[in-house]
Amino acid sequence: MAEPDADDDERLFAVVGVAEGTFGRFEPDTPPLIDGRGRVRLSFSRVDMFRTCPRRFRYTYVDRLPTLPSPALSFGSSIHTALEAFYDRKLPTMPSEEELVGSLYDAWDPTGFAEVPRTEQLEYYRHGQQVLRRFHRRVAPTYRLPAATEAWFELPVDHEAVVVGSIDRVDVDDDGRFHVVDYKTNRRVRSRAQVAGSLQLAIYALACRHLYGALPATVSLDFVVAGVEVRVPIEELDLEAARQAVLDTAAQVRAGVDRPVPGPRCGWCDHRAICPAWQGEGPEVLGRAHTELTALRRSLARDVRRMRELEAGVARIEAELGVPPDPTGA
Ligand code: SF4
Repeated sequence: MAEPDADDDERLFAVVGVAEGTFGRFEPDTPPLIDGRGRVRLSFSRVDMFRTCPRRFRYTYVDRLPTLPSPALSFGSSIHTALEAFYDRKLPTMPSEEELVGSLYDAWDPTGFAEVPRTEQLEYYRHGQQVLRRFHRRVAPTYRLPAATEAWFELPVDHEAVVVGSIDRVDVDDDGRFHVVDYKTNRRVRSRAQVAGSLQLAIYALACRHLYGALPATVSLDFVVAGVEVRVPIEELDLEAARQAVLDTAAQVRAGVDRPVPGPRCGWCDHRAICPAWQGEGPEVLGRAHTELTALRRSLARDVRRMRELEAGVARIEAELGVPPDPTGA
């Protein structure tokens, strides 16, 4: 497992040509796979990826190779942000259809469209507007403020794992019962049986109990593009199987399992070029990692130079004004 250590910091300081100590040590901005209590830190996506292909999991979460943004991911994140704004309000007044559609402008995530023609991005944007319009018409008759949107959870599973994530929406009804809702922004609608068998929803149900002290009465996937919500009662979920799936994944992650499992998802795997299950495409992924590293080192060097300029300027002016130096060095 590639966790940065003191040697990593020293190498970085050497790269940018500064002595350590001026501005603290470098820390990663994302948590390592094993948390401070020795638990494997997972999410539904991590469990799902590991179960599909442990090698892809390793490249993505252990080696931390860059992954490419995509129009579909950016579209999904934009719709999620707009829907969060639609429900995350202080007053129970429903925003108008135009307000919801208009909120897509601020919510729009352009990162996945950098490599596609502008016209294609516009098509996605207009499609997003239509999706939100339909959503508004569908939910308007029953709109009410939820208990939470983007409800962040850290769910311990025994002492072996912690599953983190956020639930798109948690509704609460007149009887105080909770209802967990997850938005899906692809075109495929899943059957009732598939929704009942969703590992993601089972994890979210356990997370709801962890957050609010009660399992939800129902869980649902809201297929916002198709305009269909598929809801199932909690009794149809196998929560123990979900717990076991998390524990099995944690045990295998700990054991360093990383075998490639070729399948249909290889078609959109960012790491196919270096995967031993495939050959002949060249190490493009490593090339991207090197490019990102070079850019980061350059920007770090720029930041350090700027910081040095400011430090020197502030010290000069403080000396002129007779301001005593800050003992914290801040
Ligand atoms: S190319 Fe296929 S087998 Fe290889 S890491 Fe990606 S998903 Fe796994």
